Amino acid sequence: MSERQLPDDLSVETLAIRAAQLHTDEMSHSEPLFLTSSFVYDSAAQAAARFAGEQPGNVYSRFTNPTVAVFEQRLAAMEGGERCVAFASGMAAITATFLALLKPGDHIVSSRGVFGTTNVIYEKYLKKFGIQTTLVDLADIAAWRAALRPETRFLYLETPSNPLAEIGDIRELADLAHAHGAELIVDNCFCSPALQQPLSLGADIVIHSATKYLDGQGRCLGGAVVGKAERMQEVYSFLRATGAAMSPFNAWVFLKGLETLPLRMKAHSANALALAQWLVQQPGIGKVHYAGLSDHPQHALAQAQQSAFGGVLSIEVQDSDGRADRQAAWRFIDATRLMSITANLGDAKSTITHPASTTHGRIDEAEKRRSGITESLIRISVGLEAIDDLKADMARGIAALGLAAR
Ligand SMILES: *Cc1c(COP(=O)(O)O)cnc(C)c1O
Repeated sequence: MSERQLPDDLSVETLAIRAAQLHTDEMSHSEPLFLTSSFVYDSAAQAAARFAGEQPGNVYSRFTNPTVAVFEQRLAAMEGGERCVAFASGMAAITATFLALLKPGDHIVSSRGVFGTTNVIYEKYLKKFGIQTTLVDLADIAAWRAALRPETRFLYLETPSNPLAEIGDIRELADLAHAHGAELIVDNCFCSPALQQPLSLGADIVIHSATKYLDGQGRCLGGAVVGKAERMQEVYSFLRATGAAMSPFNAWVFLKGLETLPLRMKAHSANALALAQWLVQQPGIGKVHYAGLSDHPQHALAQAQQSAFGGVLSIEVQDSDGRADRQAAWRFIDATRLMSITANLGDAKSTITHPASTTHGRIDEAEKRRSGITESLIRISVGLEAIDDLKADMARGIAALGLAAR
């Protein structure tokens, strides 16, 4: 059926709601869910033409699915990319990008603080296929430059970093990558396109765990890769053959999530900033890691490349006897009554976790120290609850340190 042409130059808030609508002949206003594994043909000849790729159209949901396609087109529009390829999870998207685009002998320079399982891919799997990775500190441009080798193909980062909220300079690292004939990949999970569009800053590929903010309510696993059509065709071919396809049901949930993403990211950011500003004044809170605080070393850079500071912050705690250890952190976490004790993030529900014994628990002690993952560190993914209720929950944690919140 005919579609009205969307106007050009729409803002990300509008694209989140309006890009890539899909109306069937039933004219449903909400995007339909095509929960089907395969598609049927009018005739044997049509089936043959579809399989041969001589005629466009759906064949099988590992290849294409209309609901997944709407999610892909909408996210591509929001990121300002030519094409998006959706995956069953963020890790599937990351692994597919490496395996589809790299070959034995290639080299990656990556920021040290990337998602823990991404490190497992580097160490356990890419290494096995002859692809080496060098880890550097996110904010140390000289270290990135020094790590480049003739065979470096990718610079890879997350910004803000997890859990210490360090900021990487996307434009500077994109320039460095391009001068070297390499590509810059940004895992944009923590900001989402609502707050940061890495492609517009020069990055070549954006990766998402849709599981986090794109869903926003902790329901579905999903992932996505966005970039130039030619590169994404290679990623798509890999997906089609290897099969980590996004479920159409999950794509439909993410589509609904995208519609409220810009609104939610503003609210997450406002709550996180208010909580961070309150926490810095409290006893027992040694350090608050959040780029929205004016004394954060990369506050100005975050302000320049993000439209808000995001929903994740971390704190270092110290009890009334001056102990800044695992016991103090666990007592603080266990005293909260509102926040969910879970390592997930990007949910309407606030979550609280102890990185050193959960998300970063498998990393050896030396690497933990180098990355700043101390025993007293607590990460909070600030949700959408009322800010006064969140402060009151933090005050319970502070009381468990033997101190009284102000
Ligand atoms: C969760 C996460 C991933 C992995 O995504 P899954 O959907 O859990 O596979 C990758 N990168 C970042 C930054 C994440 O937070």
